[in-house]
Amino acid sequence: MARLYPIEKIRNIGIVAHIDAGKTTVSERILFYTGVSHKIGEVHTGDTVMDWMEQERERGITITAAATTAFWVPTYRGNDKNFSHRINLIDTPGHIDFTVEVKRSLRVLDGAVVVFDGVSGVEPQTETNWHYADEYHVPRLCFINKMDRMGASFWGSFEAIRERLTPNAYPIQLPIGLESEHRGIVDLMRMKAYAFEGEHGENIKEIPIPDTMKEEVEKWRHQLVEKIVEGDDALMASYLEGKEIGLEDLRRTLRKMVIGYKIVPVLCGSALKNKGVQFVLDAVVDYLPSPLDLPPVKGTDEKGGELTRTADDAEPFTALAFKIAADPFVGSLTFFRNYAGVLKRGSYVFNSTKGVQERIGRVVRLHANQREEVEEVYAGEIAAIVGLKGTTTGDTLCDTEKLIVLEKITFPEPVIGIRIEPKTKADQEKMGTALRRLAEEDPTFRVAGDPETGETIISGMGELHLEIIVDRMKREFGVEASVGRPQVAYKETITGSAEAEGKYIKQSGGRGQYGHVRLKVKSLERGTGFVFVDAIKGGVIPREFIPAVEKGVKEALDRGVLAHYPMIDVEVELYDGSFHEVDSSEAAFKIAGSMAFQEAVKRANPVILEPVMKLQVIVPPDFLGEVTGNVNSKRGKIENLGDRVNIKVIDAKVPLSEMFGYATELRSMTQGRGSFTMEFDHYEPTPQNVAQLIIEGKKK
Ligand code: GDP
Repeated sequence: MARLYPIEKIRNIGIVAHIDAGKTTVSERILFYTGVSHKIGEVHTGDTVMDWMEQERERGITITAAATTAFWVPTYRGNDKNFSHRINLIDTPGHIDFTVEVKRSLRVLDGAVVVFDGVSGVEPQTETNWHYADEYHVPRLCFINKMDRMGASFWGSFEAIRERLTPNAYPIQLPIGLESEHRGIVDLMRMKAYAFEGEHGENIKEIPIPDTMKEEVEKWRHQLVEKIVEGDDALMASYLEGKEIGLEDLRRTLRKMVIGYKIVPVLCGSALKNKGVQFVLDAVVDYLPSPLDLPPVKGTDEKGGELTRTADDAEPFTALAFKIAADPFVGSLTFFRNYAGVLKRGSYVFNSTKGVQERIGRVVRLHANQREEVEEVYAGEIAAIVGLKGTTTGDTLCDTEKLIVLEKITFPEPVIGIRIEPKTKADQEKMGTALRRLAEEDPTFRVAGDPETGETIISGMGELHLEIIVDRMKREFGVEASVGRPQVAYKETITGSAEAEGKYIKQSGGRGQYGHVRLKVKSLERGTGFVFVDAIKGGVIPREFIPAVEKGVKEALDRGVLAHYPMIDVEVELYDGSFHEVDSSEAAFKIAGSMAFQEAVKRANPVILEPVMKLQVIVPPDFLGEVTGNVNSKRGKIENLGDRVNIKVIDAKVPLSEMFGYATELRSMTQGRGSFTMEFDHYEPTPQNVAQLIIEGKKK
């Protein structure tokens, strides 16, 4: 079977927006228009289109899927199917607090549409997402939405984009009429005006450019063309000779400039009033990259040598699993981006991250209104595999013969936990299932039981992260639960080394107990974990009791000696002991092991470790002093002060325990103009005075 869509006709895009800017509405319209266009050629009346939309609305369009596939023929190509493009819409999170989620989606998409609210313009979260997109070199377009709203201002938003985001923003459209007068746009590429008519704006009608706009249109057309020709020497020469540049040349060169991030085209309209979204789709096809326009993906072979793969069906299969989602109909879905080669249903692939082979059963693609079973997935495409067992988010799937490991999406350890208690008996039963499902989807979310109290503790990356989990549990699984106060996930370790003896001996009448061990503890490099060394010689402790000693040590490891936090990065060497022919038992050696370990740890200079976060705060210059002062007062260390267009960027390391409620604090310090992102960086010993408070239970 050959591929239906040549790779240059594929667009993997995400819609990035501040909450409330209209991401959902824009996505809904995209699926609606693409659904309609896909059906063109089949027999239908206006009514069936209508029915379809109503039905979808009732059932809820699958816009929340990790990736939805749609098809689009640019409006100016009539309905010529030769120009049909496959657009994969990749879901990006609305909350920026999930840095991990944002980065994960940016990793697999090739281009983005950034949606702005035409009244509020550039909002702090958009600013943050924009800078992430810069980091990942994501080409993008801007859509200034809500031109119909009271107070809408195209120029207000446009200037904010230029000042705060990029000097490379250029309008390729101007709105005709604002607020209730908004009816269409002037296209600066074609130099034509269009109104969107009909119930769903499906009737795109050419109208004369309004006289009142002529001057403005000329001015911006001139600036646009002047900028575009910078991208092509031959065009520049013709332009300087005063020749008119043809539309196809302009489009082709603008495409090159957008992919090279030299121009960010700005479009506008109103998703809610069905104005302009079709042209956003045209621009996605015309200006955003196909997988072929991007550099080859990089990875490593088994020996750590660098490898690259180009987006070509003939290359060995290379893909990244970027999201695991629970699907109500088919179970678990592993969404993957295919970077190279072809995936065939029924074949075997290798998960090179985990070192396991996986069989590919069913493969599906999700559309707005259906689930399509597919036989083969080609280079550059996105699809989902049903029911993979051994694969988690961020793993590489590849050819079983030609191994490659793509750069991992790294997930930090959870740093914050809360106790969670079901409200009723019925909730209790459902809660287990709900938490398990949610943990499968989200690699930064963990569930554990407290061995002392039997309570459930959920942990994750931040307060909001856990709040949202609790909220999803309620909405999607109908579980009511009450939660405790958030707690920092402290750890303990030792900074020195020491030896100790553990004796558990009871010999007073009947069968006694006899366990006796000597061991050494030693600190290990951060991140090493726990290492147990058996150095027993000459059978002074019989083989069969050694695992019991290790077990005793491990149990003691879970509860550190200072404040009962789990211990990390410790080596234990069991080197001596003794036993009794009759009285020795596994139980006795387990207790002896645990006693010796605790004693040794106390002598080896134990410390409490706290999670330290990498914090990035983005603020207008006026607030810099106050915000940095505040970071310092939180035991924070400022590492860098950077400048971007009219904003300051503060990079710092701050202990998590000082960061509770920071969102509110920052908002009030900066009149809502500051924004921040925070992610786990490393564990570090707490200062003595802080450790004392933690030990006394006064600091949470
Ligand atoms: P999201 O949070 O970014 O997904 O935003 P939504 O699509 O849910 O939109 C947020 C609110 O703005 C909703 O009440 C929408 O109806 C409204 N909205 C979206 N697009 C437009 C628009 O073009 N014009 C107006 N006036 N309202 C809009």
